[in-house]
Amino acid sequence: MNLTNIGTIKEIMSQHGFSFSKNLGQNFIINPEICPKIAENGNAQHGFGILEIGTGIGVLTAELARRADKVTAIEIDTRLLPVLAETLAEFDNVKIINQDVMKADLHKIISEEFVGLRVAVCANLPYYITSPVIMKLLESRLPIESVTVMVQKEAGQRLCAEVGTREAGAITVGVNYYGTARQLFGVSRGNFMPSPNVDSAVIRIDLNSRNRLDADSEKFFFGVVKAGFSQRRKTVSNAISAQMGIPKNAIYTALKETGLPENIRIESMKMENLIDFSEKLRSMV
Ligand code: SAM
Repeated sequence: MNLTNIGTIKEIMSQHGFSFSKNLGQNFIINPEICPKIAENGNAQHGFGILEIGTGIGVLTAELARRADKVTAIEIDTRLLPVLAETLAEFDNVKIINQDVMKADLHKIISEEFVGLRVAVCANLPYYITSPVIMKLLESRLPIESVTVMVQKEAGQRLCAEVGTREAGAITVGVNYYGTARQLFGVSRGNFMPSPNVDSAVIRIDLNSRNRLDADSEKFFFGVVKAGFSQRRKTVSNAISAQMGIPKNAIYTALKETGLPENIRIESMKMENLIDFSEKLRSMV
């Protein structure tokens, strides 16, 4: 079944009485070249189990299932289950879990579904929860090697930005704490049905264990990052003292010990600066 063919999609939808839900970010890929490219760049290969988030009618799921040993996909929309039973009927290595990804126990799913396999995430993400999903995947310290996802173009730029530049945000620091991100290719809005108001990009995050702090330090670090970026135009000392109630003197001392000026803004701080500063500040409060 050609799941990128508009006529086929319309036929399946009418057979099942299915209509797109804007609230669930349902924009399905209709260019046949895109899903194979995501799968090939996203570790969908022998020896891997792929966790997919948001199947739609299964266009990416099928390409993943062709290449990987197993695909387990989390899809919130119950109406898609009978559709997927038909569109993915030829595959015996696909399992659909009808849940909200934000509520799903991903550790449990991965340990039960992918025994003996290496694991990667591939998805065309629903844009209304891009950042929370990515942060959940990273923060949960799941045994996954890579996250290859289609996101809104601007979100992709932020995710792949360099920490210490204007383009970076709290999510950039999050991604760089857990791994490294790069953009693979852009996808214009005309490649989806229905066509969204924005263009997209496929990015890949490779996870590593470079910046492992202990749990308390890590919590404090992300508190600092969140506080700093919530008022990114202010100096770090103003933002952090206001948001975290830490006396300015302690912040100045921590900045000085990190070799940074008192009036620095968070968007000028490099990854090593942020970690170093956070550790120094934590030891003072
Ligand atoms: N993979 C398909 C494709 O590329 O054509 C569909 C992608 S569409 C952008 C996003 C999918 O995520 C939809 O199928 C939607 O129902 C699903 N979705 C939305 N919110 C979700 C959630 N909280 N948990 C799991 N799936 C969700």
